Amino acid sequence: MVHLGHNKYNKHMKLPEETDYLIVGCGLFGSVLAERISCKLKKKVTIIDKRNHIGGNCYSTIDQETGIEYHQYGTHIFHTNSQEVFRYVSQFTQFNGYYHQVLTTHKNKVYQLPINLETINSFFNVNLKPFEVKAFIEKKVKAIPQPKNLEEKAISLVGEELYEAFIKGYTQKQWNKDPKELPATIINRLPVRFNYDESYFNNGRYQGIPKEGYTAIFQQMLDHPLITTILECDYFEIKDSITVKEKTIYTGPIDRYFEFQLGRLDWRSIRLERKIESVEDYQGTSVMNYADLKDKQTRIHEPRHLHPERSYQKEKTLLFYEYSESNINEPFYPINDDKNKELYRKYKELAMKEKNTLFGGRLGTYSYYDMDQVIAQALKVFDSLKA
Ligand SMILES: Cc1cc2nc3c(=O)[nH]c(=O)nc-3n(C[C@H](O)[C@H](O)[C@H](O)COP(=O)(O)OP(=O)(O)OC[C@H]3O[C@@H](n4cnc5c(N)ncnc54)[C@H](O)[C@@H]3O)c2cc1C
Repeated sequence: MVHLGHNKYNKHMKLPEETDYLIVGCGLFGSVLAERISCKLKKKVTIIDKRNHIGGNCYSTIDQETGIEYHQYGTHIFHTNSQEVFRYVSQFTQFNGYYHQVLTTHKNKVYQLPINLETINSFFNVNLKPFEVKAFIEKKVKAIPQPKNLEEKAISLVGEELYEAFIKGYTQKQWNKDPKELPATIINRLPVRFNYDESYFNNGRYQGIPKEGYTAIFQQMLDHPLITTILECDYFEIKDSITVKEKTIYTGPIDRYFEFQLGRLDWRSIRLERKIESVEDYQGTSVMNYADLKDKQTRIHEPRHLHPERSYQKEKTLLFYEYSESNINEPFYPINDDKNKELYRKYKELAMKEKNTLFGGRLGTYSYYDMDQVIAQALKVFDSLKA
């Protein structure tokens, strides 16, 4: 076990015998609550993680060979429209003004995403004006009153050609299934913009990358005399060795908490493969999608672009090739099909009967949340604890 108290590691620290709150998971949900409970309620918090670092999936670190900071579990862009969330997180960091845009490669040509007027003009080799494009797309769209699967749903939203180019192959790689076999409910809408707006996030009033990286935020949040942080510590190995006076806050997978008694929830995950290229700039942007099946990766990340304010070395650049896969050891994305939704509903019923344990975060509630949603959720839970 590794203990981290006031940012100092001490391998010989023992788990305290008792604590007011035990928080399982040093990700965003657990860390926000640890910070609030210690600062505002002045209660003792023990926060643990089975990984060897704090920060959960937001963890960032420096690549030793290139000096470039990267996000170990995939590129994370902070974005929110919520002033409350932005104010809260700004206590621990400044943001660097990075503005996210996404590009995709199809048949060796690069297009903008989400699909906008530039994508459409470039793909169909036309030069439509904003007031002409809606009618143009409507002619391409096929009316399918009750789409039976993801393919039909997508075609009913954007038409066959855009679907084939930008959605079909990417979706198949992401889910390792033909979109015809995927439920239509996976997508509700596909944003198509009839102007040149290429900003990626709808909720991007505040966005950027923490100037000192994400891990520095967590170090600050957990640096409090009432917080004991213990890493490489699995809840299921220690739960009977610590007395919790108030509550346990559990942010691990909900099915694991109940020892999979109703069955396992399914997850999609990703694998990242590190590569070095001997050029200053490989792809000119932080994230490039690959729409075609012939390119095995779903995306290539080039983290140097996340910090344009830093002067990184010019001789080499760091890349991560992203492949989608199912990996129950690294659950990332919940699968929102009927089977899993129903199973989660049953686990949630069990969770509600646990009087001394609160379930939160993406694993504890089997939901995909962006960082701002997790912070908002944790602040709401804190308000209810306070009350
Ligand atoms: C690939 C990827 C890219 C993303 N990109 C973005 C983005 O660009 N912008 C954005 O806003 N959001 C993004 N997100 C979402 C973001 O990662 C989440 O919102 C956030 O990390 C959720 O925090 P959490 O605390 O709920 O979960 P986590 O960060 O997963 O933390 C949970 C922690 O619990 C620990 N744990 C689990 N079980 C146990 C146990 N038994 N004992 C001890 N510890 C345990 C885990 O090790 C983990 O560290 C992305 C997510 C992924 C997967």
